[in-house]
Amino acid sequence: MRMSLSTRIKAEARRLGFALVGILPTGPSLTHPFYQAWLEKGYAGEMGYLERHAPLKAHLERLAPGARSVIMLSLNYYSAAPPAPANQEQPRGRISRYAWGRDYHDLIAEKLRELSDFIAAEAGRPVQCRNYVDTAPVMEREFAARAGLGWVGKHGVLIHWGLGSWLFLAELLVDIELDYDEPPPPRRARQGGASRPAGDFPAIPLGLELRESCGSCTACIDACPTDAIVAEKTVDSRRCISYHTIELKGPIPEEFRSRIGEWVFGCDICQDVCPWNRRAKPSGEPEFSAEAERVQPSLLALLALDEQGFRERFGGTAILRTKRRGLLRNAAIALGNRLAADNDTESRAAALQALRNSLADAEPLVRGAAAWALGVAGGPQAMEALGNAQHRESDESVRVEISRALGRWGR
Ligand code: SF4
Ligand code: SF4
Repeated sequence: MRMSLSTRIKAEARRLGFALVGILPTGPSLTHPFYQAWLEKGYAGEMGYLERHAPLKAHLERLAPGARSVIMLSLNYYSAAPPAPANQEQPRGRISRYAWGRDYHDLIAEKLRELSDFIAAEAGRPVQCRNYVDTAPVMEREFAARAGLGWVGKHGVLIHWGLGSWLFLAELLVDIELDYDEPPPPRRARQGGASRPAGDFPAIPLGLELRESCGSCTACIDACPTDAIVAEKTVDSRRCISYHTIELKGPIPEEFRSRIGEWVFGCDICQDVCPWNRRAKPSGEPEFSAEAERVQPSLLALLALDEQGFRERFGGTAILRTKRRGLLRNAAIALGNRLAADNDTESRAAALQALRNSLADAEPLVRGAAAWALGVAGGPQAMEALGNAQHRESDESVRVEISRALGRWGR
């Protein structure tokens, strides 16, 4: 007996490497009012596009008129960290796991195009397919949860019971009716520990919370170094290291700089501590495997990158998003944090020299971060470099950073 079109689509999606597939009819978002309230609290920070796109997120058909079904997909990107780089005494930064390999947008877009071609060929009639990966105003986590791909954890990330949370989401909207997935059965909470009071967005409506499996665990909330998870499922981006190191274009607010630690692109702490990620399985996607220098790059090497070097090193990866100036801003801050905690004379001298060089960078953003880092490091060499820079600096914002850095030490 020939399989239904829906079954064939799912089989093809799995052949293409998607770990999970679920199909729903298009319709309104059930969580949009919560999202709107999140925006109104200012939790999106400077991501103004989220505000502009919000009306489109209320209903899938606003985005894709005529669409009848949404095929929700997730791709596992978990790959184990490679052995630590040699030369561990070099100060090193950390990069979020999702950016270790090739840019997932490109990789998933290729797979979605193949899946669209398959559907068009199998449907027996022209089909309008619209493919999205993290680029369209879709309430992705909600539709993924409703399609049975997992639940939204207290850190706001989708978690699957068997795979954990290292998952990219994507969707395909088609103008044909398919067989729709039933919501998975309720699950019992499995975690222990003290519960937190529910936040502004305590549960997804329509009983979906019954399938959630965080229980009374609060590991992600407790581990977040910037207290960015302000309520269950509610991350205030303005406090989140991922936002600061990737999305924020200007200087990182001073109150968060020391708490950023060694992260130079993104942050995985809340996912690293999640007990469900003990179940993570390697994705098997060769393009997501990474070298040690990608996972823990030398901060001195990052600070030495010119524009061409940045493009050569990070071309084809998600790290391009932060641009050279953003990455070097982050590297300077991470180096300042390392210097504040490290008295090794040899590595300290090289780090101070790298920051002195960055005080002459063409980008004020980098110069300002280097000034902060030298202020944190302290010592005669740092003070001398800051004093010299103060005389020649023309950018007002950097002059303020230099004055504050000198002021830490009563200069
Ligand atoms: S990504 Fe990092 S900073 Fe952001 S909520 Fe998670 S632990 Fe906190
Ligand atoms: S760490 Fe605990 S509370 Fe946070 S998402 Fe994972 S299971 Fe849920």
